[in-house]
Amino acid sequence: MADPMEAMKKEFENRIIPPSWKDRVWEIEDYRKFHEDTIKDKESIEKWWEKWANEIFWFRKWDRALDDSNPPFYRWFVGGETNLAYLCTDWQIEQGRKNKVAIIWEGEPVKENGEPVEVRKLTYYDLYRESNRIAAMLKDKLGVKKDEILTFYLPMIPELPLFMLGVQRIGAKHSIVFSGFSAQALAVRIMDAGARYVVTADGVYRRGKVLNLKAIVDDAVKICEQEGHKVEKVIVVKRAGNEIPWNDSRDVWFEDLMADIGKNVKVECEKMGSEDFSFILYTSGTTGRPKGAQHSVGGYAVHLYTTMKLIFDIKDDDIFWCTADIGWITGHSYIVYGPLMCGATTMMYEGAPDFPDVSRWAAMIERYGVTIFYTAPTAIRMLMRFPEENYTKYDMSTLRIIHSVGEPINPEAWRWYYRVFGREDVVCSSTWWMTETGGMLTDHFPGLGKIIPLKPGTNGYPIPGVRMEVLDDEGNSVKPGERGYLVISTPWPGMLMTLFKDPNRFIDVYFGKYKSKGWYYYTGDFAMFDEDGYVWVLGRADDILKVAGHRIGTAEIESAMVSHPDVAEAACVGKSDPVKGEIPIIYVVLREGVEPSPDMVNELKKHLRATLGPVVASDAVITFVNTLPKTRSGKIMRRLLRAVAEGKELGDVTTLESEVAVEEAKKAYEMVK
Ligand code: ATP
Ligand code: MG
Repeated sequence: MADPMEAMKKEFENRIIPPSWKDRVWEIEDYRKFHEDTIKDKESIEKWWEKWANEIFWFRKWDRALDDSNPPFYRWFVGGETNLAYLCTDWQIEQGRKNKVAIIWEGEPVKENGEPVEVRKLTYYDLYRESNRIAAMLKDKLGVKKDEILTFYLPMIPELPLFMLGVQRIGAKHSIVFSGFSAQALAVRIMDAGARYVVTADGVYRRGKVLNLKAIVDDAVKICEQEGHKVEKVIVVKRAGNEIPWNDSRDVWFEDLMADIGKNVKVECEKMGSEDFSFILYTSGTTGRPKGAQHSVGGYAVHLYTTMKLIFDIKDDDIFWCTADIGWITGHSYIVYGPLMCGATTMMYEGAPDFPDVSRWAAMIERYGVTIFYTAPTAIRMLMRFPEENYTKYDMSTLRIIHSVGEPINPEAWRWYYRVFGREDVVCSSTWWMTETGGMLTDHFPGLGKIIPLKPGTNGYPIPGVRMEVLDDEGNSVKPGERGYLVISTPWPGMLMTLFKDPNRFIDVYFGKYKSKGWYYYTGDFAMFDEDGYVWVLGRADDILKVAGHRIGTAEIESAMVSHPDVAEAACVGKSDPVKGEIPIIYVVLREGVEPSPDMVNELKKHLRATLGPVVASDAVITFVNTLPKTRSGKIMRRLLRAVAEGKELGDVTTLESEVAVEEAKKAYEMVK
């Protein structure tokens, strides 16, 4: 049979070098050697990370970089003391960045011409003063204790990072819940953290409407009360000025709490042990019940600092924009802590990429002269549905590095992103990582001064200091070009310390699969290495298809579909079949202006046959939808599509963005089954 991987193989060999990097390219062998030298043994791993740890501020230096005496509970920079807030404010001011813009915030445009009406620029000194004032308020007015967890349900407004820094300053912890979650999802997270205080806003602008966040918090608090958990205070930041329900004995305006806090009040920064924890954050819930990842202080800081330098090549004059919501790890690490501890200017925005129209991001890149851009494949595929002039009419020539994260990027989407946003002369890559890993773990490393060649759709190489492997079910390493499960076989500083209140689940979920082999961190992703040693994540291990004896990652089939010019997005799941093993069911979203039709189905089947061969194509079922079911962070929830195809219960849907997409999938499936 034709190897369904032939199409991918072409991509493996497709090396691209951006013209302005042509004299700065690693020979793969040289990078491989460089990488290998950093992971030879424990000492070389420690040496690599200590080099970076030495560049950041510590109240007290560590005694030992890595304590691995109690795996899988690894401890980094043991004995060291630092503080995330100190790194992001005090230390920046000490380095002369007092008046440098730290955060540029743009509100949702409300005028017809799409110009923003509200822009706030905060300097490092502003961050320092305001986070000190918040720290004072938390301590003196609310009696927040070191080690206490506060839950945040705040939208993308500058008060969110200010609160994060205020919390870190006094050694407390945050649990930030994405402000698009339902009351039920919020309540579960408030109770899990045992939070006395919930911080929210009255409302937020999204796509021209005001969403009433406070009403959702009230519902969540009610659920908590029914379950016997008391929320003592709800602190409300004024954003949209909308009417909100109010409970005098419980609710308090942030502005009122802050009114009599002195402008120059200073709160001494807690000297946090490197191995204290800094926050908890729940995973996106793509595969089921979200997990509460608990992160450290010192190891997390070193990981972020290192990856900001290596992967984003961050420099003092960069304007850095990660489009994620701070409610996700990407926002925690690469809107707030990473850029700020590097003294960068970081952007944040309120609203959506397609409001007032799809040009919003391109216009913002031009408006602020963004140099480094970080977004998600789901957004790229959405933008691709519309004509390129929407973007190319803006001057995006300031961009020098553009990356993506969150899902595999289809080679076609990569090409579009590289060409339309990157004018075919930027470093463009898909950085693979997880909530649990704290920071990025793969890339092309512009920060080393030379890059490994780009390839459309790859995740690049594991970062120095980290060893990754692809194993089969028995735990044997598979050869390059063969598919298996991605594991991380060395500890790294950004890794989660444990799952909050659930160390056994931590061990089971991440170290259970290859227990008999040793301490291998199991990622839950299906992947392969190519001959050059690049990592290709091919989808979730749970979502693998078995077609006529071949195991295929969802990304392989979906990428083949997206390479058709009329297809914007596709999601593929396997439906069990007594004869074939599994039949691929493919849900397709067409580009703007293309209509679904039986001819289109035939056309797409032909295309699938031409790219992946007859084995995959002959039984594949193709159906059309307008939207795919996604998590609220924009990832395709294939397990719901599989449940639809197999007529099973949907299971946990608390992280689902919209029920409508599932209903649509049901109808689309009815039509073809
Ligand atoms: P849950 O674990 O609750 O099911 P989740 O895995 O979606 O949710 P995240 O931590 O936000 O939660 O996502 C990490 C996952 O996202 C990875 O395991 C991987 O499947 C996918 N991912 C992230 N970045 C990339 C990338 N660059 N390429 C391919 N896949 C990626
Ligand atoms: Mg996950």
